[in-house]
Amino acid sequence: MNKWVYLTQSAHPDLAKVLGHEPSIAEMKVILGGKGAGLAEMTRVGLPVPPSFTITTAACIAFIEAGFRFPKGMWEQTLEALHQVEEIYGKKFGDPANPLLVSVRSGAKLSMPGMMETILNVGLNDETLRGLIEFTENKRFVWDSYRRLIAMFGRTAKGIADEVFDHVMETLKAERGVEDDTALTAADLRELVKRFKVAYREALGEDFPQDPQEQLKAAVEAVFRSWMGKRAIDYRRAENIPDDLGTAVNVQTMVFGNMGWDSGTGVAFTRNPSTGEKTFYGDYLLNAQGEDVVAGIRNTKPVTKLGEDMPQVYTQLLEIADKLERHYRDMQDMEFTVEGGKLWMLQTRVGKRTSRAAVRIAVEMVAEGLINREEALLRVTPKDVDFFLHPQFDEKEIKKTKAEGRLLATGVNASPGAAVGMLAFDADTAEEWGEAGKAVIMIRPETKPDDVHGMIAAKGILTSRGGATAHAAVVARQFGKPAVVGARDLQINLETREVKVQGQVLREGDYVSLDGAAGEVYAGQIPTVVPDYGKEKNLRTLLGWADEVAADSAARQWPADYAGYPTRGLQVWTNADYPRDARRARTFGAVGIGLCRTEHMFFEEERLPYVQQMILSADDAQALFDRRHRLQTTLEEGKEEGKPLDDNRRADLQSRLEAVEHEIETSSAVKDYQGALEQLLPSQRSDFFGLFEAMDGYPVIIRLIDPPLHEFLPSQEELLVEVTEMRTRGEHGPELESKEQMLAAVQRMHEANPMMGLRGIRLGITYPDITKMQVQAIFEAACQAAKKGVDVLPEVMIPLTGHVNELKVSQVELEGVAKQVMEEQGIDVEYKFGTMIEIPRAAVTADEVATLAQFFSYGTNDLTQMTFGYSRDDAERRFLVKYVEQEVLADNPFQVLDRDGVGKLVKMGVRLGRKTRRELEVGICGEHGGEPSSIEFCHMAGLNYVSCSPFRVPVARLAAAQATIWHKDKVLE
Ligand code: PEP
Ligand code: MG
Repeated sequence: MNKWVYLTQSAHPDLAKVLGHEPSIAEMKVILGGKGAGLAEMTRVGLPVPPSFTITTAACIAFIEAGFRFPKGMWEQTLEALHQVEEIYGKKFGDPANPLLVSVRSGAKLSMPGMMETILNVGLNDETLRGLIEFTENKRFVWDSYRRLIAMFGRTAKGIADEVFDHVMETLKAERGVEDDTALTAADLRELVKRFKVAYREALGEDFPQDPQEQLKAAVEAVFRSWMGKRAIDYRRAENIPDDLGTAVNVQTMVFGNMGWDSGTGVAFTRNPSTGEKTFYGDYLLNAQGEDVVAGIRNTKPVTKLGEDMPQVYTQLLEIADKLERHYRDMQDMEFTVEGGKLWMLQTRVGKRTSRAAVRIAVEMVAEGLINREEALLRVTPKDVDFFLHPQFDEKEIKKTKAEGRLLATGVNASPGAAVGMLAFDADTAEEWGEAGKAVIMIRPETKPDDVHGMIAAKGILTSRGGATAHAAVVARQFGKPAVVGARDLQINLETREVKVQGQVLREGDYVSLDGAAGEVYAGQIPTVVPDYGKEKNLRTLLGWADEVAADSAARQWPADYAGYPTRGLQVWTNADYPRDARRARTFGAVGIGLCRTEHMFFEEERLPYVQQMILSADDAQALFDRRHRLQTTLEEGKEEGKPLDDNRRADLQSRLEAVEHEIETSSAVKDYQGALEQLLPSQRSDFFGLFEAMDGYPVIIRLIDPPLHEFLPSQEELLVEVTEMRTRGEHGPELESKEQMLAAVQRMHEANPMMGLRGIRLGITYPDITKMQVQAIFEAACQAAKKGVDVLPEVMIPLTGHVNELKVSQVELEGVAKQVMEEQGIDVEYKFGTMIEIPRAAVTADEVATLAQFFSYGTNDLTQMTFGYSRDDAERRFLVKYVEQEVLADNPFQVLDRDGVGKLVKMGVRLGRKTRRELEVGICGEHGGEPSSIEFCHMAGLNYVSCSPFRVPVARLAAAQATIWHKDKVLE
């Protein structure tokens, strides 16, 4: 018989029996869910935990698979465990004299705050109610508990709408003239129970069940079903949590925080989850149940004030917090209840935290000796690092805005970061506007789990109620969204969709700016700035460790037959076209440029006319050069079609050669072509000089011109329209003529499929003077920089090679240019010539390609395009979104490297390439170079570096270190 139910008190030994070994915390979480595992662990270390049992996650999955029916034996085991709890606690479920009440809570392996159901006070009915009143001598508390049960049960187990009970409650409060729930008397609550029962019957056509076991059964079912509820599914999609984990159900003896003013309940963190500071943090309420704290309906007190209200309990709580943090070696988020002066721990789990807190806690815990550096690196996610690269408000702007009187309100600084957007008053509007590309701030009095889709779509979240542990705060931190909660001055009217504050009225669609770190709300839009990375000491410390981990030369273990050389872990380089990008990337920790797309410089305003001139004259000029070349070769070889030249033929060819040379001298195409190249040379030289200076001591890979040339010319469609319009209007003159010429040129150059046409190395072979000019500029800049004392390491990269013969033609000639420049300059610099691997043929013939190429750089944008046969310009717009939605593909392959297909080519290329050239340097410069899962793959494939845009460098450094740690003990494939 399957074991579906575990008594918390004996969960550990029972699990050991089932598993055949001591259960790890991770295993306990899989079987019992996070909450169940936490309860078992707290009980084991001797903390005061109310007796309880857990129904396993496997039972949930079995329940769903069987069409929402409990698996065989589960209910019997549940009753047996309930019996054991009765024994331990000394009360009986359903006993009118001294009843045991239980809470029924969800608890998945991974925390999903507020996404699933909880029902409290199960076991209360008209009879046990009397016993409980006698026992507690507290009528008010018991009637309060009963009304909560009826509403919660009605809502969660039976699907009665929230409004049904809210309406009854509001009516009664209005009749009694009170605002706060706590102002209702015992008699009022008794009346409320009566009305709730009527409302329940009206809604369902049946009475609220009096049988405690029937209540328990329905509650357990409701929790299981909530795993498949819309909001839980939405949350799992957003957080990439698999559907087949299931939720456990925790059935626990109720202890009551609402038994009077010597009772209370709260949520506490062992460190501040917003800043990471090592201070006890949280909220509590006296005379209240847990939901009151989280719902944000009553104003909570900071947990440090508990020292005044209940000094002994507070001291005990601090001790427990310390014990739990040391036990779990991580920041804990605890729920506690005080019943009649006795402290009970209801839950502990690893606390969710902001990105800033995650980094600080990880670094400080290393200093405290609680964890080691590798653990610290695994505690922080790429998303956390990314946070530091996102906009914040500039302090000067904030001062100015305050001086202008635009500070509208302050609240709890629940989740840091700057957000600017239009107010949206509900989650659906926020989602709709967000999808339409608008920046939205979602504003609500408080948020509920049903609002999560709007919160995901919003740039920031603003509420008028609640504290640091309210739903809005927890979820915002989770998603890294800036949030200000409990801004009490905001009078939000959901009907008129207006908010009144400080005599102003803001309407839906009006702009506000939120400072989640300061808890401030401003009218209008405040410009944002990126955080000063240089001042983020903790992050820099952590990423310094990341580099050390990744630099370990023993970081990768190769199979015995692998001919590759033992590399350190991955380095992080950057894709940078301009010196300012290179400088920024260096401050972010890049140690090389993996891709400078030279053509980007061609687009600059003052250069584009020369680039166009170069393109428009290239064909005619090159045709003349080619003719000259053919004549020269024939004359030099002294034969034609295998036959020796006779004197007549030689003289004829000689005079033709002279004619061509004369034509070249006088040709306007040649003049334009060479003139343009001469203009472009010095500007390219100064671009490259700046890059070498910025990357002093690090390699700089410069790629020769790559895109199809039409990209530099005006669009054919637009030109056609303009020319036609001018002709129709009967215009004449030089403007029309030049447009007509341009149109003719563009039409001449038109290609049906330019992405697979004349681009990359094909351009270099067709118009060698362009790439020669570039190589001349690179080496002149390198020599000049070297003369100035800069440590230069130029690497010339040839794009889009598909066949080694292309390199034989192109690279050999270009190396000649490099050598000539160094000779002229009288200085030698260390350099490499290499190629991008972007075409599947290059990957599968990499051993041949490596005979010439001294380095490979995987251009996985093109390699993905060519491997899948998906146009990178069109696929994402047309069908890829659908492919991912329908799970035809797990991910968009232009974002996340396709390991099975493109990845196979990458691995094959690395192996073959290093067979030929052991020391072959291999990197990646496609967009995947900044994406964590692709970086992990690059580590396993044995690459030397990943290259990504400057703002992704810090994330890549962490991802590279994490990959090194994860795969440390594995032999790579
Ligand atoms: C690539 O193809 O991956 C690459 C980096 O080159 P580009 O994106 O410029 O084609
Ligand atoms: Mg490319």
